[in-house]
Amino acid sequence: MAKTKRGKGLWNTPSRGRGTCPICLSTRIKLLYSATNSDGKLVKVCKKCSAVDAKTADKAVSTENLGFRGKLRKALNRQKQTV
Ligand SMILES: [Zn+2]
Repeated sequence: MAKTKRGKGLWNTPSRGRGTCPICLSTRIKLLYSATNSDGKLVKVCKKCSAVDAKTADKAVSTENLGFRGKLRKALNRQKQTV
């Protein structure tokens, strides 16, 4: 089986397979795993969050358009606390 989560194949994916995880809000992490929320929707998450249950996946926030800048860190942490 091809390694879909490693190596050059990632470079062709949007932002090279990396981003901010919508659940744990880790930045610059690989978003190659998916979690299913209670609507049956797939959420792109990091490896750590690939095992979360639907309840946790419901709390996912949209981080798609966030960059990797540290500036966002504070805002993310605030979001995290309110979840
Ligand atoms: Zn995560």
